[in-house]
Amino acid sequence: MFKQQVYIAGQWCDADSNSNQPVYNPADGTLLGHVPECGQAETQRAINAADIASKSWQKTTAKEKSIVLRRWFDLIQQHSEALAEILTAEQGKPLTEAKAEIAYAASFIEWYAEQAKRIRGEMIPSHRPDARILVSHEAIGVVGAITPWNFPAAMITRKCGPAFAAGCSVVLKPAPDTPFTALALAALAEQAGLPKGLFSVVTGDAVAIGGELTSNKTVRKISFTGSTAIGKLLMAQSAASVKKMSLELGGNAPFIVFDDADLEKALAGYMVAKFRNAGQTCVCANRLYVHESVYDRFMNMLTDKVSSLVMGNGFIEGVDIGPMINRSAVEKIEAHIHDAVQKGATLLHGSQEKSSTHFVQPAVLRDVTDDMLVATEETFGPLAAAFTFSDDEDVIARANNTDSGLAAYIYTQSLSKAFRMSEALEYGMVGVNEGLISTEVAPFGGIKESGLGREGAAQGIDEYLETKYTLMGGL
Ligand code: ADP
Repeated sequence: MFKQQVYIAGQWCDADSNSNQPVYNPADGTLLGHVPECGQAETQRAINAADIASKSWQKTTAKEKSIVLRRWFDLIQQHSEALAEILTAEQGKPLTEAKAEIAYAASFIEWYAEQAKRIRGEMIPSHRPDARILVSHEAIGVVGAITPWNFPAAMITRKCGPAFAAGCSVVLKPAPDTPFTALALAALAEQAGLPKGLFSVVTGDAVAIGGELTSNKTVRKISFTGSTAIGKLLMAQSAASVKKMSLELGGNAPFIVFDDADLEKALAGYMVAKFRNAGQTCVCANRLYVHESVYDRFMNMLTDKVSSLVMGNGFIEGVDIGPMINRSAVEKIEAHIHDAVQKGATLLHGSQEKSSTHFVQPAVLRDVTDDMLVATEETFGPLAAAFTFSDDEDVIARANNTDSGLAAYIYTQSLSKAFRMSEALEYGMVGVNEGLISTEVAPFGGIKESGLGREGAAQGIDEYLETKYTLMGGL
């Protein structure tokens, strides 16, 4: 499964130029291997094959699609250990988290294998007695998918599962830091009997591959997960050919602990929401708001808990926090800590020393205020930044004071407060007394600049379907 070639039109091959890119382990900098440095020509070939493949795939029955997807799911399950090892080697997360991601990734393939059979149309009472109105749903066609490094497996299956179930084909550009998980998934898809050309994986020059995916008229949809800046760029590039867009972009999640919260549970939820994947998820709690009456107590509990976290190579048993993906991620976290301390926050745990590796000590800051960088920018690292509040309406206004609108979390034991506050939050997803909200059975996605469309659940497959209205007249 460890492939150092790309998979285009059902063939494993090198780049036309024969050049390649190195991939390193972020924990220790060792060279893991190379992947082809592809560009426009290889992407075009993948798109042409995808066009042919999706046309015949659309003609297969839902059951046939379902069987192939189910086989892919079974193979991912069977090879979950090996996949998790590839994932940890290139991404750095602890092996237990990598295994959990593989299970989560597989769940999308299983769910959409089932959902393939449930794409239904409708018949609307007609406006004329001699006519009938039929509404049906058809596959969009060729999809260009671009994925990030933080969930190298799940961000791929969350797109491919519904796309293939709907009858679409996918040309995928995985993140340059984590291509081997993507290529391993493609190897298993091939083994599962996915038709040639239906799924291609092209590694290499992001600008050239992305440029072709967004400008080629055969590609009818772009599904992207990554930074808000690149999402906007891809949307602008896709405007000329009016492609459908699914965008899962950045977040700046508030995590609000009200005065009546069960603090033990809030702490447990916060640890998952903040420190999973070393804080490198788009739904990670970025701003922790704790009611002033429980602030000191909660900060003590939090500092104790964070000081017990073990940092190290994800392959070592018992490690909670792996490396950051790259040096610029490290520098951003350090800049957030430095800025906050300079403006008056107190570092209760962690270090102000600059790291020379990819590792950053988990950190806790108290007395964080709205003028600090951590209030407005997504840290994407293991930094707990704690604000305080006294008034419910005020904290909701502050929580909403961002262009992002992906995930938010609240802890309260009051049912009425839970409803009122979660309804007031301008976010696509709200966890009430829960710190982990991602599941294949629910629609994941954001509002405002956090994105367009939903992934997972029944809504996830709608993203890959067009609606056709047929008027059957003259009856
Ligand atoms: P991050 O900052 O988390 O790495 P990015 O948005 O830069 O997020 O990356 C997410 C994905 O977008 C990666 O696969 C990356 O290679 C790709 N990407 C980055 N720049 C471009 C671009 N100009 N065109 C197409 N894809 C791009």
